Amino acid sequence: MAARTVLILGGTRDAREVAGLLVQKGVDVVTSLAGVTAAPEHPAGRLRLGGFGGAGGLAAYLAAAQVALVIDATHPFAAQIARNAHEACRAAGVPLLRLERPAWQPAEGDRWIAAASAEEAAGILPEGARVLLTIGRKEVAPFFARAGLSGIARMIEEPPVAVPPGWSLVRARPPFSLQQEIDLLSAQAISHLVSKNAGGRLGREKIAAAKALQLPVVMIARPARPDVPLSGSVEALVEAVARLLSP
Ligand code: NAP
Repeated sequence: MAARTVLILGGTRDAREVAGLLVQKGVDVVTSLAGVTAAPEHPAGRLRLGGFGGAGGLAAYLAAAQVALVIDATHPFAAQIARNAHEACRAAGVPLLRLERPAWQPAEGDRWIAAASAEEAAGILPEGARVLLTIGRKEVAPFFARAGLSGIARMIEEPPVAVPPGWSLVRARPPFSLQQEIDLLSAQAISHLVSKNAGGRLGREKIAAAKALQLPVVMIARPARPDVPLSGSVEALVEAVARLLSP
């Protein structure tokens, strides 16, 4: 593949895999991270950190860095950067591809309760529920605000709000094995798991653990994202990139 600059909007394991494969093929890759995680895992290629300053800032960056193609490989719940990428690429005339694994689907034996948002999920939980909250750091406030809930909030960095009595913070970075997840749910007497529907092969262990223990899972649906060409796997995305970059 030609050595033209590809910008990967990252922050996911998939984004790191894409960066590794494209660098192997001789592509000049810059991965962009929001800069939220203190010690992020470094992908292959170049790295830039921090927000761009909205869609306008991103469009200016695309021009200045002579970016030939943008890959949005951010998490399915990172809706703002996805909107910004769509708007900036349209304004700058730069093609945009998105990597998005299919959402998880409930199977026989799963006890899922659908929620449209974190706020709705917090409201759905029954009084007295003991929760394993695995939704990251940004949206924990509605759970912490409900006096009748307690449990474990697991995330990589500190949350932006104080952790109330009854809740414990577990600072940990995935992956977690099925056995680790079963042990945590059992040891903490968890009654409900709360998860975002991230999709993909990683992160499903907690769902499988809840199923094994017959626990209900409050599953938060993905937010709406802009309509851009999607690849459902790292391999499919790398093929799409090769087609776009070939002379
Ligand atoms: P968000 O709400 O969509 O974005 C908020 C702002 O953060 C954006 O407007 C942008 O700032 C900046 N930003 C986000 N991703 C960026 C990137 N890759 N490079 C440069 N700036 C970025 O995103 P979020 O939900 O806070 O997620 C932040 C990062 O964490 C994302 O990269 C995402 O892939 C990763 N992540 C998120 C989740 C989740 O559940 N939300 C889970 C795992 C990983 P400017 O407007 O200033 O450009």
